Amino acid sequence: MIDWNKIDTVLLDMDGTLLDLNFDNHFWKEFVPLKFAEKQDLSLEAAKLQLQPRFKSMEGKLEWYCLDYWSEVLALDIAGLKAELSGLIAVLPHVTEFLERAHQSPKKLYLVTNAHRGSLGLKMEKTCLQVFFDAIISSHDLGFPKEQADFWRLLQQQIPFAKQSTLLIDDSLAVLDAARQFGIAHLISVSKPDSQLPKKNITAYPAIEDFRELMAGL
Ligand SMILES: [Mg+2]
Repeated sequence: MIDWNKIDTVLLDMDGTLLDLNFDNHFWKEFVPLKFAEKQDLSLEAAKLQLQPRFKSMEGKLEWYCLDYWSEVLALDIAGLKAELSGLIAVLPHVTEFLERAHQSPKKLYLVTNAHRGSLGLKMEKTCLQVFFDAIISSHDLGFPKEQADFWRLLQQQIPFAKQSTLLIDDSLAVLDAARQFGIAHLISVSKPDSQLPKKNITAYPAIEDFRELMAGL
């Protein structure tokens, strides 16, 4: 799937790529509506109906990933709720083996995420994956989400990389599209970002079900 001799920089997404998206899906689809319902004295169904379009309208925007934004508009302590649910934070199968191997190679390894520094910190604390990376970049530091061209332009100023020899692995097709437009040559998607949901059928990019598929030749 990939010729590792051609790669000197690996950019890795966090949620749905390295970490099980079940945490985030459960958090936003079940746990937040439940807490919102309690606070607003609504039924769970009514809370879900109210929240779904509000979440939908923010997709792909930086605020969607911002704990402060949601804490304010929903009047809930989102960071505190995440900590409450943090037992569900889990590394996807074979990710740690892959990161160990990649870390031992001369390749540069960067975690590049839309996650807010708050949830990023919580997730690193739970999983200890930070040791594998040359740097961790949150799109909140750059002011644009990964879905936008400006993110990639600013990222290259922060961590110099050659587009031709860079690989991005990300479960978001919108992010892969933006990276492709910017000129990143090697792009791979993830077909099983959530361990509790069926495998996705991805045709736009080569996709891995788990990281064993990328271990050969690394
Ligand atoms: Mg992701």
